[in-house]
Formats: sequence, C-alpha cells, structure tokens
Amino acid sequence: MPCHPARARELLRKGKAKVLRIFPFTLILVEREDGDVLPASVKIDPGSKKTGIALVADAKRGKKVVWAAEVEHRGQQIKKALDKRRAIRRGRRFRKTAYRTARFLNRTRTSGWLAPSIMSRVENTMTWVKRLQRFSPLSGISVERVKFDMQKMENSEVSGVEYQWGTLNGYEIREYLTVKWDNSCAYCGAKGGRLEIEHIIPKSKGGSNRPSNLSLACHDCNRRKGNLALEDFLTDKKRLEKMKAQLRAPLKDAAAVNSARNKIVELLSQILPLETGTGGQTKFNRTNQKYEKAHWIDAACVGDSGEKVYISEAIKPLLIKAVGHGDRQVQLMDKHGFPRGNPAKGKIFFRFKTGDIVAAFVSSGKKAGRHKGKVAVRASGSFNITTTQGTIQGISHKYCKTLHKGDGYAYEV
Ligand SMILES: [Zn+2]
Repeated sequence: MPCHPARARELLRKGKAKVLRIFPFTLILVEREDGDVLPASVKIDPGSKKTGIALVADAKRGKKVVWAAEVEHRGQQIKKALDKRRAIRRGRRFRKTAYRTARFLNRTRTSGWLAPSIMSRVENTMTWVKRLQRFSPLSGISVERVKFDMQKMENSEVSGVEYQWGTLNGYEIREYLTVKWDNSCAYCGAKGGRLEIEHIIPKSKGGSNRPSNLSLACHDCNRRKGNLALEDFLTDKKRLEKMKAQLRAPLKDAAAVNSARNKIVELLSQILPLETGTGGQTKFNRTNQKYEKAHWIDAACVGDSGEKVYISEAIKPLLIKAVGHGDRQVQLMDKHGFPRGNPAKGKIFFRFKTGDIVAAFVSSGKKAGRHKGKVAVRASGSFNITTTQGTIQGISHKYCKTLHKGDGYAYEV
C-alpha cells in the first residue's frame, strides 16, 4: 500500500522493511505480513506518445491519488526498426544468391492483429497494470476509451444552453467537433488558436443546436458570418463544396479509429472490473477541479470516479520511457549495408546486461568516486555507465553492483 515517504524512511531506519524494488520504489515488510490496505484502482489515459497512469485510493475522506506515472511509448522507433529490416531483406532478395523458392503467399494474420508499433503501446500499458497489481491491492481499473461518446450525443436532444462550454455534454460536443473539423476553422481553415462553436444554419433562421448543425470557426469568421446563410457567406465555390463535403462525410466511428484503446479495454476487462470514460468527460472533470493539464492528471480524472479526486501537490509522477531490450541483428552493417564485424555473442557479461541500473564504487584512479546509472556492457568486462552528469567510459565490472535489473524501461524521478 503506498505510504508517505517519511513513513517509508522510518520503516527502513528501524529495520522493519527492506527495499524490494527501486522502480517503482517498493518496500517489503520483514516483521509482519498483514497491515491496513485501502482499496485502490488504477486509472489510465492511453495516448499515442505518452500514457498517463494514476493509482487512486479510496480513503475515508474521499478518493486521492497515491502514486502516478507517465509511460513514454516507442511506437515510432519500432516502425523505424521494421522499415529498416524490410529494406535489408529486400536488398538481400535482389543479390546474387542461391535460388530459394518464393514464399510470399504463406503469411497469415490472426484476427485482431494490430501493427507492432500499436501493439507495443498496448503491451506497455498491460505490463504496468500487471506490475501495479503485483505490488498494490487493486480493486478496479478505469480507462479513457474514446474521445467523445457518439451514442450519448446522438440520443440526447441538445437543449439551448447545453452546447455551451461548461456542461458535460458541452465538453463531449466540443471534442466531437474538434475531430469532425480537424481542429481548424470550417470556413477559412485556420488551424489552432481559439476556435468558437458556430451554427451553420443560423439560429435566427431556424437552425438547431444539434451537433450536425454545429461547426468550429475562428473568431473572425464567426463574427463576419453573423446570421448569414452558408451559401451567402462562402462565395468561393470551391471552398463551399469542400465545406459541404466535410459536413456530409460520415465521421469514422471514434471507437474504431482508436484500435489501441479498444485492445487495451478488451485485455484489461479480463483482469479486473473495468470502468470506461470519454475524453470529454475527462476534460470536464479536470477543468472543474482546476487541475493543470498532464497525462497523469488526466488519468486521475477519467470516468465517473474522476469527478472528485484529491491530488496532493507533493505527488511527482515517475517518468517511464520504453526503451526495449536491444535487437537480435546477427550481422552489423556500415551505412552502405556492408558487413561490419560481428556483434558480441549473447547479451549478459559478468552477470550484467546493457540497461541494468548499477552503482559503481571506484576507490582510486582517474575515475574514483561513486557512479550510479544505466550500464552498457562489453564482453571485455569494461563497462560504460551513463549517469545524470554524463557517460563514464571503461569501468570494470568488478566495481559494479546491480540496483535494478534492466526491464526494457528507463526511469526518471
Ligand atoms: Zn476562419
């Protein structure tokens, strides 16, 4: 159960607990096996670059965030690596080599297949939920599933004030319009800036408040359009056609667009009771509680349970970066694709592996001192350690002690 840092220090000082793991910092009690635990749920805001995670406990006085993290994904690196591999294989096929029968029609994809770069995001999230489940008494999971709830919006008659900023439905509609109009002015195409919600058929001419009659416009266009009809305002034929096409185009089902989120929801629902929320709701909850924008704060505000959450200013998220486990390329290459010596056989040398976090105490010489950081190993036993100050080259394995075994992630507190 997450506890206050002061309490953790006290337990360690009195010898009542030992360090089990550094990232996330976990203690194990040595004297007793029981203790008070609060039911806690893990809340997730899945993103394409970063995923926010918050551990929220059900305390007596209400819900509060007890631990938070942000996981940085490596989708782009995976795509790059696969593109590189594909290029190498293509090059190899056109070389003068022994004939091999074609085997291009023997590939299958299982149903529910996702691109490796997307799957890595799903798997990073699953890894961290499972880890938290091992260290903390989890009772449930909340995930932001979609940006907005299409069904909720289509079924509800939007009344006069509800499209306005400030209500839950208003936030849902805002998210919907952002996607529908690609976060740009529907009339002049200006991107970003402050966009206003605007009626395509003016209200004075009988236009409704339904999402289908709403668009986003920059302040200038909104003011100039006033209560003109669409055809009277957009005199440029091309622009008018474009806008009409965009208006007619069915919005791809927001749930289907986000395949990674769907997969996460599918897999997580097999582990623990699951609550889902929408992006509009998250933003509504966060704005109402006057919290800043951050992935982990968004995570804490997901779903109905995010309506009232206490976030102490003392909480600092653990920054986790997915870095992978290295590659299995058997032949190194120079920049022209020619062989460049062989990589070392195996990955573990003197019980260390590249990516482990180690501490080295060097007693004398030029590199004397205590160095703590990520190790890069060599078969010779002369390692490099990357500390916060920089990389120290050529430290013997004899001085190194493992603090945290490499697990495919880099950490920063
Ligand atoms: Zn405009």
